[in-house]
Amino acid sequence: MRKTFFIIAGLIFITISFVPVVSSEQRESRYVTLKYSSKEILRTFNDHLSLGSSLSRMMRKNTVTIEDEVLAKTDIIVEKAETVLEMFPSNLHFTLILLPASEDISRVFNQKYNKNVNYLSFYSLSEKTIYISVDDANLSILAHEIGHAIVDRFFDVRPPYNIHELMAQFTEKHITD
Ligand SMILES: [Zn+2]
Repeated sequence: MRKTFFIIAGLIFITISFVPVVSSEQRESRYVTLKYSSKEILRTFNDHLSLGSSLSRMMRKNTVTIEDEVLAKTDIIVEKAETVLEMFPSNLHFTLILLPASEDISRVFNQKYNKNVNYLSFYSLSEKTIYISVDDANLSILAHEIGHAIVDRFFDVRPPYNIHELMAQFTEKHITD
């Protein structure tokens, strides 16, 4: 009885501690597989992701759901980032995982790389995945990480880390031009 209790309690604990990482919802667009654990997280991300006037004009269709709006915005940022970098890699596709806050980013980063960081987002080269805190998300941060994803796909031989970072910063800086 006691043993069963601890096993069940343990399973519940494991489930709870992985909730923010295990994304229950998944949607796809041309460039992105979007993963998030709740509608609320998606809504916060959408609220924080305003495109500004020039990029907003690129929204081709009227979107009905928040999912569609987020995916449409992300695809627009991808295409603008490609133009900024003058890199148009074929079959570009990456995963975008929305996490609630920067602490979740730090926790995931620590789990993967065993390093303590204070990031609001990061791009995992091995997983082709952007992790982003929806609390802190904005156009610049997402454009920066998308810059990493494009550079990663564009070069057969990976550029040195500092150059990778420089190109992501360039994307971030010029996304609204
Ligand atoms: Zn970077």
